[in-house]
Amino acid sequence: MKTTSPKSWVHFACWRGSFNSIIRSNRVIGIKRERSFIKHGLNANAAHTVQKMFMRLPWSILPDDAVIGYLGGDAFLVLLVQSDDQGVPVLDVFAKDLIQKVSQSYFVDGLTLDIGCSIGVAMYPEFGTDAVTLIKNADMAVYQAKTAGRATYHFYDGDMGRRFARNVRIETRLRLALQSGNLELHFQPKVDLTTERCVGMEALLRWNDEELGMVSPAEFVPIAEQTGIILPLGDWVFEQAFRHILEWQAQGITVPPIAINCSAAQLKRIDFLPKLLALLDKYQVDPSLLEIEVTESILIEDAERCAELLRQLSRLGMKLAIDDFGTGYSSLGYLKDLPFHYVKIDQVFIRNIIEDKKHAALTHAIISLSHDLGLKVIAEGITDIHQLIMLQDFGCDIGQGYLFSKALGANSMGSDPMIVALNEQGSED
Ligand code: C2E
Ligand code: MG
Ligand code: MG
Repeated sequence: MKTTSPKSWVHFACWRGSFNSIIRSNRVIGIKRERSFIKHGLNANAAHTVQKMFMRLPWSILPDDAVIGYLGGDAFLVLLVQSDDQGVPVLDVFAKDLIQKVSQSYFVDGLTLDIGCSIGVAMYPEFGTDAVTLIKNADMAVYQAKTAGRATYHFYDGDMGRRFARNVRIETRLRLALQSGNLELHFQPKVDLTTERCVGMEALLRWNDEELGMVSPAEFVPIAEQTGIILPLGDWVFEQAFRHILEWQAQGITVPPIAINCSAAQLKRIDFLPKLLALLDKYQVDPSLLEIEVTESILIEDAERCAELLRQLSRLGMKLAIDDFGTGYSSLGYLKDLPFHYVKIDQVFIRNIIEDKKHAALTHAIISLSHDLGLKVIAEGITDIHQLIMLQDFGCDIGQGYLFSKALGANSMGSDPMIVALNEQGSED
């Protein structure tokens, strides 16, 4: 470990390299910490391999007077000493640079290790005057960085302790909820904008916790993703959706295609497809009744494997939608090369479509382009009739939003007017 004495002020930057998809052989996938890396039964040289890889990390980009410490697991600590005229902008550049340089594949002892990196920064003296406090706060900032989507950095701020405590509480309660059955799936209708008939439903998680009250999936899904709970949670969502489909069919209800949101971590699982096929078989659900919604983050992280999986799903008859389109990279390449059937325009565009000409222009452009590529467009978050009329003028195919219906409990399906109309239409055909 290099050592130095502080000059004028000090930052602690604690970073954790994430072992993303290490070594597909040896039964090890998606490892985050060295500890699990070894525990999962790699040979005795594993620790040595990891050590060798650490040596290859680009430490040389750190200033000469930086202190580097190994905290155990996949965590490192960097102590940077900077002069008073440097500040957050300098650290910004530094953190971005470090993430970019560290995040690459390392070939060690015949194995390819894909390493990612998230950074948390705690400033001295504002957020700690001793090492223990600074490291604890930097650790919270790392947690925040990971929740925000990994390969990113976060500065500790005074409020983070409270947020961290809530996140930990949500994590604990969510694990319990999965076992105790406090979770539910609700279903939001999707409506054909020409015929105004229901053409599908999106399954959305609902969680009413005894202690925390209603917790929005917008809050707990990212925590589930960050902690790995998303894997059993995702399994639960599929199984629960299939159960509901069977129940509705048993009640004589015409079930439209059900869309399931899938997080990147779920699709990255090597056993995602076999598990899904086993479930379809167990419940005898026709794959054409299933739609999968993914956000583009998966396509950025693991494009090739993901593309192959999407093709397999599509060949089985499932429809695929790219969710929240327009907010991230919105790469047109995905639309051209991957077997998507639907583009879901993010609700931020729809929310402002009347007031903001640019949002209207972008929405129009996404619709035209998607149509040119043979894709249908779904607009999310339609709340008023003016938005609906504009979207109809733009030729948007399908809509979803409170104007039509909120997500409904599974028991409301038999009495919901849209589903009733769908059944009447079915009997007329
Ligand atoms: P999403 O997939 O983009 O779902 C659309 C969200 O918009 C839902 O929020 C829905 O209730 C909400 N919404 C629909 N119409 C309107 C409207 O007119 N106005 C407004 N303001 N909101 C509307 P929700 O249920 O809170 O879900 C938030 C996000 O959580 C989802 O965004 C999805 O990313 C995630 N999520 C929900 N359920 C699941 C799940 O089963 N698995 C996974 N991986 N993620 C899920
Ligand atoms: Mg969705
Ligand atoms: Mg969405």
